[in-house]
Amino acid sequence: MEVFGLIGKTLSHSLSPIIHKFVYEMLNLEATYSLYQVRPDMLDAAIQGIRALDLRGVNVTIPYKIKVMESLDRISLEAEKIGAVNTILNDGNSLIGYNTDYFGFGKLLDKYNIKTAGKTAVVLGSGGAAKSITAYLQDTGISELFIVSREPNKIGHSYNCNVINYKQLSLINQASLLINCTPIGMSPNSGSAPVSKCEIEKFESVVDLIYNPLHTQLMTQAIELGIPAYNGLYMLVSQAVAAIEIWYSFSISEDIVHKVYDKLIQYLKE
Ligand code: NAP
Repeated sequence: MEVFGLIGKTLSHSLSPIIHKFVYEMLNLEATYSLYQVRPDMLDAAIQGIRALDLRGVNVTIPYKIKVMESLDRISLEAEKIGAVNTILNDGNSLIGYNTDYFGFGKLLDKYNIKTAGKTAVVLGSGGAAKSITAYLQDTGISELFIVSREPNKIGHSYNCNVINYKQLSLINQASLLINCTPIGMSPNSGSAPVSKCEIEKFESVVDLIYNPLHTQLMTQAIELGIPAYNGLYMLVSQAVAAIEIWYSFSISEDIVHKVYDKLIQYLKE
């Protein structure tokens, strides 16, 4: 029996155990997935514990995606570029960090047939998720990219693209894709949206990385304007499946991702 898990600070609402359970069942994998709430001063000890206990891998979440990199032996190309790790593989006692949010976002774009090469995109927020999304968009040929931050000056040069504030968003006339990478609209504050309808109407499609609720206020406003809008649940499932692919070193068909996603929607509605 393989033991996997998630290392983070506060994990009681995590959907990861149920997503992993669904995948393990569908693929007949003898595996379990546990939640490990770790204190900041115990992070390195917990990571070294992966070696001591000979676990094959773990996921890492807020607030440790950056700090955890100090405890690893190697970092993959995409995680190095992003500056954050959410998946660790124990490869013969060598701990390697990956970022599967990057791949999960790509799968979400594919599912909803959103094309970004040669287009303009606007990313709201400048945190960990925004870093994965901008790295993916830049690696796949986005033509123009804007990060919208409450405090652009504080971000400095950590982003290799235009960083603007929310007022400057009104200067952009038209763009293809708006991506919400802020927590605005997330449960229990689901009544709010990060931008108003007059900003949303400039876009051809909207992606909200939030998955709780499944239908955010931002998505509602976009759909009222006739603009297609999608939540982050498919990305969440895809990043989990990408982690399992790394741990087992085999590829998992998109059909499995679709089935897990449908099962998860059903589970969330019950
Ligand atoms: P994070 O590191 O805390 O970053 C969030 C960013 O949003 C902050 O850097 C901040 O940027 C902005 N922000 C924070 N509070 C705000 C507020 N009150 N008003 C306006 N902007 C605010 O969080 P994260 O890990 O990037 O996650 C962001 C969202 O993405 C969360 O809702 C998370 O659940 C979701 N997410 C989803 C997936 C998925 O698989 N679907 C994966 C990762 C994250 P500025 O200070 O520059 O404004």
